Parts: sequence; structure tokens; C-alpha cells
Amino acid sequence: MAESLGRGNEAQSQWARVRARLRTEFGDAAYRSWLRNMSLHTIEDGCVKIAVPTRFLRDWVAGHYADRIRSLWNAENGDVANVEILVIGAAAEEAPEPQVREAPTRESAESADDKNISAPLDPRFTFDNFVVGKPNELAHAAARRVAESQVGPNRSVPFNPLFLYGGVGLGKTHLMHAIAWHIRTHDPKRRVIYLSAEKFMYQFIRALRFKDTMAFKAQFRSVDVLMIDDVQFISGKDTTQEEFFHTFNALVDQNRQIVISADKSPTDLEGMEERMRSRLGWGLVADVHPTTYELRLGILQSKAENSRATVPPKVLEFLAHRITSNVRELEGALNRIYAHTQLVGREVTLESSAEVLHDLLRANDRRVTIDEIQKRVAEHYNIRLADMHSARRARAVARPRQVAMYLCKQLTPRSLPEIGRKFGGRDHTTVMHAVRKIEELRASDRVMAEDIELLRRMLET
Ligand code: ADP
Ligand code: MG
Repeated sequence: MAESLGRGNEAQSQWARVRARLRTEFGDAAYRSWLRNMSLHTIEDGCVKIAVPTRFLRDWVAGHYADRIRSLWNAENGDVANVEILVIGAAAEEAPEPQVREAPTRESAESADDKNISAPLDPRFTFDNFVVGKPNELAHAAARRVAESQVGPNRSVPFNPLFLYGGVGLGKTHLMHAIAWHIRTHDPKRRVIYLSAEKFMYQFIRALRFKDTMAFKAQFRSVDVLMIDDVQFISGKDTTQEEFFHTFNALVDQNRQIVISADKSPTDLEGMEERMRSRLGWGLVADVHPTTYELRLGILQSKAENSRATVPPKVLEFLAHRITSNVRELEGALNRIYAHTQLVGREVTLESSAEVLHDLLRANDRRVTIDEIQKRVAEHYNIRLADMHSARRARAVARPRQVAMYLCKQLTPRSLPEIGRKFGGRDHTTVMHAVRKIEELRASDRVMAEDIELLRRMLET
């Protein structure tokens, strides 16, 4: 790569200037969302090749920015006539994966057999400690069903695999550990293996290195229940995926239970082979939704009950209101309050809580507004902001308007009538229709799905 870059430093500084221009032209948010991930690959024969880590980014950058990048390059270097965007597998392999977390170690929980491969289970992650609410009731019921079907005289595999998905910190790992705890306590002879996809990959690579893949395969293929957490981690990692696929099929064929978690639904998992995605969706796919106020309060109350320090109900309500991101942060907030109370030995009040948590609260306050959404969407589709409010019904403006309404429903706590009002006084049924229409299009139209995904990412950063 260095060779074909020729006068490498010069090319890099031209690239730096092109990037700086892109940043000013398209703004920080847009830049952060994808342009930041580009790297200069080569310049050869008047063609600049730019690498990005995923196909999604490639399509997006190629579709929306390649022309502009080309003319900026051309202004820097008259020889440049072409810009090509590539996906670099290696970059994808190395991209840091968010949300991979191992539970704290508790060696004694492991049966000797599975010790090598199964990750330790967190003793707090049991069904008893899991608070059920609307957002997680399906996932919870499915997890319970799987756990109960594995023990007792009438064992069965109710759905295979059970696929749990949802955002960070919403309880997926908790539910998987709870399944494992349940089975291990009721029938210690059952072989239950839980591990992160990252660890699965690590074990597999190690087996390859030590030419020990037979043992690796045997280990995995003789279990009763296999649970793999955060499977998005093996997206794009082809050999690991291949091995996983074979393991998966072998287990399903023998009617062994598989439980998978991921941050997206099977169909939305990028970098997964098609056959893998479709296979993952064969059983029950259960979505863990973002928390509601009621669930957050319920979780806080249950945690507070199990703790010695007392936190007034008012403070719990305050936290449930203000820390809306995920359960992990909510717990973090409560723990911080406990720690603070113990340190200063004074009673917890609303004021002291707000003070102790001011940074967390600020982060959770970064709420998207309807105005911002309208502005972004108008920019994105290159229509006038006024068209968000206008009565024009031409498709070219009506569709973007529907997209904006949809995003308002998804990303703000506003009601349908409130949203309607902000769109030139439209009726709430119009908003409802827009939301349905876009939901439909999202499922059937790839470009629409990507537009939405991108806008959402931009709005949320
Ligand atoms: P995920 O795997 O979805 O990222 P985790 O399972 O690690 O999330 O959950 C994050 C934290 O929140 C854990 O400490 C977990 O115990 C807690 N948690 C999440 N959902 C619930 C719930 N419904 N009831 C009790 N605790 C929960
Ligand atoms: Mg997890």
C-alpha cells in the first residue's frame, strides 16, 4: 500500500485537506457518522481508492459522497479523475466491537468439564433478579420456557434457536445467564455452555493454531445447550462464521437447544452470510425493547429492596425519569448514589442525587427534538425545511416528510397529535399513517432502511 501511494506523505496531506473540506461542508455529525471511518488506500493512475470498514458504509459513501470527494481531490491534485470506495475486510476484522463484556469470574460455578470453554456466570443474573415489564416480557417468557424445557422428565426444545436481540444494557446477557443457572441448579448433569461470540472466535482460532480443531468441534458438538452472546461480533469474520454455522447445524440436527443474542435482528445483521442469517431466524426471535418508565422504576425498586442503604422513593422516581438510556446506566447511577451515601454518611436527597449524577443526567438529556429531525431530514433529501410544514403532496416532499414523522415518533417522547401539529398542523391519523408507511417501506426497501438507519445514527450522536 505504501508503495502504490508513491509520494505517500503528499497523498496523505492532500487526503487530510479533502477530509477537512468534507467536514466543513457536511458538518460534524455527518462526518462522525461515516466519513471519519474512511482511510486512504491507494492512488494509482488517477484513481483514488478509499477504504471503509463495512459494505453499508461503502454503499452510502459511494452513493452520496463519491462525486464530491472526487471533485475535492481533483482540486488538490489535477491527476485524479476517479474515486473508488472499497470495503477492506481486514479493517472490518479489526474494527473494535462494542458491548462485548464478560461476566465477573466465579470459577466455582463451573463444572469441571465445561470449564475450559464456558464463560463464568454472573451469580446476580438469575430469573429471580430479573424484573419483567412490557419491553422484555416476550424475551423473558421465551427464556424461561427454554430453561424449563431442559429440566424435568419431559424435556423438549420448544424453539431453536432462541434468538434474543436488542440494544446495549437491556438484559440479554442477564437472561442467558438465568437460563444457564436454572438448568445447572435443577439438573447439574446437563451440559450447558455459555460464551460470548468473541470468546468462541478466540477458542476457534486457538484450536486452529494448535491444530486441535477436532477437540474443539467435539467439545461444542456434545453439549445440551449452547448459548452464544453478542453474535454480531463474528459478523464479517468468515472462517469463524463458517465454523459457527457448522456447529450450529450439527446441534440443531441433534435437537440440542441453542440460544443466541445480538444487537440486531437476524435479518439486520450486517456481514453475516445469508444462509446464516436465515438459519438464525428459524426459531423464536424475541426483541428486547428499550425500557419504559415503569420498568425502570420496577428495576430500581427491586435493587433498592435488596440493598442495605435506603434510597427514598422520590429519588428512585427521579432516576427512572431521567436515566433513560439503559439498565446498566441505571444501575450505575444507583450504585453511585450508594457509594456517595456511604462516604459522606448523609441521607440521600433529590438534590444530592442530582449533584452526584450531574454528568450522567446531562448525557441522558441529549434528547433529539422535532425541529432537529425536520432539519436533518430536509437536508438529507435536499428539500426545503418549509416543506416539512407545507401542504405540498408531491412524492418528492411527501415521502421525506413521512420519514421525519416516523423518526419523531421513534426518537422523541412526543405524542402523535403533538407531532402532527409540528408538521403544519396535520392530524394525528396522518402521522400514524406515515409511521406505518415508513415501517412497511423499511422492511421492503433497502435504500429506505439504510436512509433511516443513517439518519437515526446522525441524530443520536
Ligand atoms: P445486555 O446483555 O442486553 O447488554 P445485560 O444483560 O448485561 O444487558 O444487562 C445490563 C445490566 O442491567 C445487568 O446488570 C442486568 O442485571 C441489568 N438488567 C437488565 N435488565 C434487567 C431487568 N429486567 N431486571 C433486572 N436487571 C436488569
Ligand atoms: Mg450482553
